[in-house]
Amino acid sequence: MTIGIWVLGDQLWQQQSALASCKQDKKRYPVILIESSQYVQQRPYHGQKLVLVWSAMRHFAEELKSDGWDVTYQISEDFVTPLQAWIQEYRITQLRVMTPSDRPFEQFINNLDLNCNVSLIPNNHFLWSKQEFHDWAKSRKRLLLEDFYRQGRKRFNILMDGDKPIGGKWNFDKQNRKPPKKNLATPTALWFEPDRITISVIERIEELKLNIYGKIEPFRWGVTRQQAKQVLGHFLTQCFSNFGTYQDAMVTGEDTLWHSLISPYLNLGLLQPMEVIKAAEQAYHSKELALNNVEGFIRQVLGWREYMYGIYHHTEADYGDGNWFNHHHPLPQFYWDGAKTEMNCLRQILTQVERTGYAHHIQRLMVLSNFALIAGVSPQEIESWFHAAFIDAYDWVMQTNVIGMGQFADGGKLASKPYAASANYINKMSDYCGNCTFDRTSRHSPNACPFNFFYWDFLDRHREKLKSLGRMNLVLANLKKISPEELAQIKSLAENWWTKENC
Ligand code: FAD
Ligand code: SF4
Repeated sequence: MTIGIWVLGDQLWQQQSALASCKQDKKRYPVILIESSQYVQQRPYHGQKLVLVWSAMRHFAEELKSDGWDVTYQISEDFVTPLQAWIQEYRITQLRVMTPSDRPFEQFINNLDLNCNVSLIPNNHFLWSKQEFHDWAKSRKRLLLEDFYRQGRKRFNILMDGDKPIGGKWNFDKQNRKPPKKNLATPTALWFEPDRITISVIERIEELKLNIYGKIEPFRWGVTRQQAKQVLGHFLTQCFSNFGTYQDAMVTGEDTLWHSLISPYLNLGLLQPMEVIKAAEQAYHSKELALNNVEGFIRQVLGWREYMYGIYHHTEADYGDGNWFNHHHPLPQFYWDGAKTEMNCLRQILTQVERTGYAHHIQRLMVLSNFALIAGVSPQEIESWFHAAFIDAYDWVMQTNVIGMGQFADGGKLASKPYAASANYINKMSDYCGNCTFDRTSRHSPNACPFNFFYWDFLDRHREKLKSLGRMNLVLANLKKISPEELAQIKSLAENWWTKENC
């Protein structure tokens, strides 16, 4: 039997399971990586995402070669032509691939008609395998993040003191999520100059004239494991001490605040979740950092990230088609060109995403996704946009975060209530409203903030459904206090907003 290994673009780690299964005798097992230009034309992508993935693949191929592997790197239109040729050249009888994280690509591999046997090796880029998550989930009525996270802390012995959480509590959120103060001294993010390989990838993408979103340059993301480790180190020394405290703050001109910027690297395999968690835990012990920041960060990686991956594979393949609120408005055009909206919060964040491919969690959830939810945009349209716009977007993380958490389109499999908010929240957590033409305090005047009339109209439109969730009763009680006249004005503003200029 001759085994060959196909390394996919988000599996760039020497210990990934397919490579690890052959590492005893590297020279004997040919390896292939393929850049397919057809594949990236199936949907628009952020130009920088394409640069990141292809440049990281090319760098990883070099790393494998210098480590003694026999590597073929193919730049091609499709995947199948170079695969067939390589299988024939090396007389490969078994093609090994680590199981893709995304279901559609796994399906694609299963449907391949190649002249050899195809073997999928279980994915080891996550701490919880699909089976382990199923086992945890199967006996539970509700799949609560909090329960899963605590189980993870115990299972991997992270921030534990015997069988108790360090500090006596599992959660320090009361100390976190502070609104931004004026004149915050924020850290500078660690960026990199593109090297020769990255420049050649940028040139290729420009030549291909793809339908890309956002600006391809300046490209400043890391593209190697070494750079990804530098970003993690920078976060731990420069940003960690305030991570939790200002986790939800949004400030004009501050793209990254105290966030780690590691999601693109984790999602490509350049960093591994356990090394990130261990490094954070070690920083806590050696630097005596405040526990609220450390626990808040570990909750993201050990809790949320693993939970999202687990839910994605635990639910049926049609999870992404969910539309609990039956929302069908098209995505407003300004999502593709942020300068076209007068809403300052959206404009600031959209133009930032065009420049960088990045926005932090609250910008994604409470502004970009929240607006689509309360305005009644189709969940699938906003999901496709998120997929196109972000540097770290993949199917597994998109469906759960956008369809589930952001749009509540799964009817509450993942979140216990919709993340819907008016200008009150945005004003509390950011400085955007101060520079906006809309009136953040009004919900029915001609200049009322659209987040306000859409929020109250959303609550009114879905009153009955929201009542069934229990956790919305307090806000529904406030809805009752609005007079029928004002409610009619709110509804008319919401309906009239959907004019041609906005869609
Ligand atoms: P930090 O704030 O520094 O957090 C540390 C790490 O925790 C992140 O790098 C990430 O790996 C992990 N994490 C935290 N929350 C989540 C979560 N909900 N799901 C998965 N991982 C999480 N994350 C992506 O990786 N890709 C996406 O395409 C993506 N799209 C999102 C869309 C929406 C609508 C929402 C609400 C969230 C989305 N997230 C996505 C989750 C989260 O917003 C990003 O992981 C995070 O903002 C990345 O920035 P960071 O590395 O600076 O994260
Ligand atoms: Fe956004 Fe409304 Fe605030 Fe303007 S007033 S920044 S639209 S929340």
